[in-house]
Amino acid sequence: MRYSQLFGKTTKNAPSDADSPNARLLEQGGFVEHVMAGVYSWLPLGLSVLRKAEQIVREEMDALGGQEIFMPSLQPKEYWEKTGRWDSVDILFKIKSQTEKMYALGCSHEEVVTPLAQKFTRSYKELPLMLYQINTKFRDELRAKSGVLRGREFRMKDMYSFHTSQAELDAYYARVKEGYVRVFARCGLDVKVVEASGGIFTKKVSHEFQALTPSGEDTLIACGSCEFGQNVEVATLKEGDACPNCGKPLFKTKGIEVGNIFDLGKKFPEDFGFDYMDESGTHKPLVMGCYGIGTTRLVGAIVEAHHDDKGIIWPKSVAPFQVHVVPLKSRDDEKQKLVEATVSALEKDLASRGIDVLVDDRDKGAGEKFADADLIGIPLRLVVSEKSLAAGGVEWKERAAAEAKSVALEGLGDEIARWLKA
Ligand code: ATP
Ligand code: MG
Repeated sequence: MRYSQLFGKTTKNAPSDADSPNARLLEQGGFVEHVMAGVYSWLPLGLSVLRKAEQIVREEMDALGGQEIFMPSLQPKEYWEKTGRWDSVDILFKIKSQTEKMYALGCSHEEVVTPLAQKFTRSYKELPLMLYQINTKFRDELRAKSGVLRGREFRMKDMYSFHTSQAELDAYYARVKEGYVRVFARCGLDVKVVEASGGIFTKKVSHEFQALTPSGEDTLIACGSCEFGQNVEVATLKEGDACPNCGKPLFKTKGIEVGNIFDLGKKFPEDFGFDYMDESGTHKPLVMGCYGIGTTRLVGAIVEAHHDDKGIIWPKSVAPFQVHVVPLKSRDDEKQKLVEATVSALEKDLASRGIDVLVDDRDKGAGEKFADADLIGIPLRLVVSEKSLAAGGVEWKERAAAEAKSVALEGLGDEIARWLKA
């Protein structure tokens, strides 16, 4: 892709309302555009990152036996009345038709997935059942803030599982916990799993996946030596207390909740009269779990965890492009032709290897191009210039590294491919 053709450009000035690094850098880098409080458009660069993160989520949900579906955001009021959540969930957007009929805009999908699963599930032979989707969610948040971290319209992967017994749900829940940690690790995020409240879903304890960054909205009490961690909203202990698992002193830290999993028990199946027949033909109640990952928040959390004062530093796994080729203009016509030919050959070579390349083909100086490359944050920058060619090749600069080095043209494609896999 040629940068001159790419829709959405970097801007020098930070948006005046940006209250966090992700809000500032995603907008300045041309990844997203603020529409109104808590609502963003995703531009090609941002959508590329979002899709890569969602693909990682999808692969891990498939590995957990999930089947992908797609459910509506416009939902019948009757279902929400059936579960008692029409009146109890304050963040639920309720909209009125011109016919006066009321609808819910999905903030979560238990009210749709439960009757859907019920329709096709009769016997123990069809269980367990795991369904998931990646969809837009709407929530009437009192305060939208921190860029894409807390929106009123955002994307979420939500999975729902139905089981014949609590023991089977418990075992699956434990597998999901591990799958979630894999998702976040693949996205470059270190997460702490903490106990938290069940929110609008359950009275039982839930488990949150917290990316530990100073800009996190949640306060946690965590152990640095073992797995123990609690959100302060449910914490029974405080900073300095001994960890109940290992005895080490607990510390207080900030986190961004990127995922949350819930044991829903029998509530939703019971609300809809959804049961199953066991081997002897007896009707039995089902137990249910639900599992959420905010995918747009995930992109924001990655930026919070991976940036410096110059811009974003994307992990390779979710970078919008893998290589940023920056040709610098030469005053000498012959040398300029050589720069252009080298760039075209490199572009072709990398394309044939399935490597995504962004070429900064604008008629701009080195300073501006480098500043934009740092802001956009593609993992590898290759400068092709009269100077680099005289030194035998290209200037290789990793976004996460301080130093640049000269690398020969011969074997460059192989070296890039190797580095990207490492
Ligand atoms: P919070 O406590 O941050 O308001 P929540 O606990 O209400 O979130 P859940 O119902 O657990 O959110 O939703 C599952 C996941 O969806 C969250 O872990 C988070 O990653 C994401 N999410 C929730 N609310 C938002 C929002 N307003 N904007 C972006 N992502 C969100
Ligand atoms: Mg939550």
